[in-house]
Amino acid sequence: MVIVGGGHAAAALCSALAQAGHGGRVHLVSAENELPYQRPPLSKGFLKQPDEAIAPHKSAAWYGEQGIQTRLGDPVVAIERATQRVRLRSGSDLAYQQLVLATGTRARTLEALPPGLRNVHVLRDAVDARRLRTRLGEMGAAGQRLTVLGGGFIGLELAASARQLGLEVRVLEVAPRLLGRSVSARLAEHVLSHHRGMGTEIQIGVRIGGYDIQDDRLVSIQVDDNSHLPVDELVLGIGAVPATDLADVCGLATDNGVLVDGCLRTSDPHILAIGDCAAFLTPDGARLRLESVQNANDHALTAATTLLGGEEPYRALPWFWSEQGPVRLQMAGLLPRSCDTTLRPGAKANSFTLFHLDGGKLLCAESVNAPLDHMMSRKLIASGISVDTALLGDPAVPLKSLLL
Ligand SMILES: Cc1cc2nc3c(=O)[nH]c(=O)nc-3n(C[C@H](O)[C@H](O)[C@H](O)COP(=O)(O)OP(=O)(O)OC[C@H]3O[C@@H](n4cnc5c(N)ncnc54)[C@H](O)[C@@H]3O)c2cc1C
Repeated sequence: MVIVGGGHAAAALCSALAQAGHGGRVHLVSAENELPYQRPPLSKGFLKQPDEAIAPHKSAAWYGEQGIQTRLGDPVVAIERATQRVRLRSGSDLAYQQLVLATGTRARTLEALPPGLRNVHVLRDAVDARRLRTRLGEMGAAGQRLTVLGGGFIGLELAASARQLGLEVRVLEVAPRLLGRSVSARLAEHVLSHHRGMGTEIQIGVRIGGYDIQDDRLVSIQVDDNSHLPVDELVLGIGAVPATDLADVCGLATDNGVLVDGCLRTSDPHILAIGDCAAFLTPDGARLRLESVQNANDHALTAATTLLGGEEPYRALPWFWSEQGPVRLQMAGLLPRSCDTTLRPGAKANSFTLFHLDGGKLLCAESVNAPLDHMMSRKLIASGISVDTALLGDPAVPLKSLLL
């Protein structure tokens, strides 16, 4: 078995195979030089703590004990489906009976900003995070300002971390609101005022006219009224694209992700795809691609079952978290296009949950600093029962009692 990728999904698959007692030969091939590690801290604690180390999922000794051979810093460059072999950049190749693509995503970039600009960054992996952490430290000393392009989760987490380090931070968002792809308008409003309260300058609905580049540096950004916003350092937080190149070239079906069935098999039954790179079929026939640790971990469990000969389609409830300074956002379920929303105030200041329902059925819950609400919401949504909005919105009624 060959696993291509060294992120959350690959690591979780190794664990699931080990737990299931899989005795066969497994190779994990990663483009990165590190063993699979926790990615979420890269925009949070890791940036704020100069001494914080990258946190590996498992040690090298563990992989050795499980008989899993790791090949680091040597990406797969081609898949030869006819002969069931993968070719690595180093020139070596590996035969497979079963192949798993766990290649994740790549940070989206802009054509107008050529690669290699010295003060333009993305934040996707440990190399990006180390470089950025060093720069943030230097910027603090020099009194420079960080500009973040994009008001999505990673951009906002980074903005909050930089503010907590004492930096001046400006976020530019071209959409009419923050987190447009992922949270409700009501939560987005709360997040906006939270960041402004932290002292971050946030401009939304910005029209970008162009970028002024001199000597390998982005000097300023032209906005709206043709004014030029000076840039010390810029981080692009404009989302990610699924890493499907290998799948595309070898002729697997792709469309905003590698297309997989409910058991995570691609259009070639010897090849699976899991995690951020996989666009999977939900039990009700919809196509979904999610970028979250939950999805990577739960895909790995389903993939292990498929690889070991089982047939158990993926049906885990999506959930997600984000930490933006002192605010912890947690989402359970998927936000429907239209729904009724009920607010449940939290026990502490600046804590609440927004419940989104359709026809009395709870579909999604967005919690702010309310981890217990989040945990109970996951159970309530998974149970599929109809719930009374008056009870949901009453903080005196324990959510647990609604399950009984
Ligand atoms: C800064 C940051 C913060 C995040 N915070 C959160 C959070 O708070 N909560 C949350 O739920 N999610 C968070 N996420 C998202 C989460 O980390 C991803 O959803 C998760 O890592 C997906 O796992 P994956 O294995 O599919 O992809 P990844 O973890 O991205 O791993 C993909 C791996 O494949 C490797 N690869 C790609 N192509 C090849 C190739 N050809 N050959 C070999 N290897 C290859 C890559 O180098 C990488 O190691 C965050 C992501 C980032 C970047």
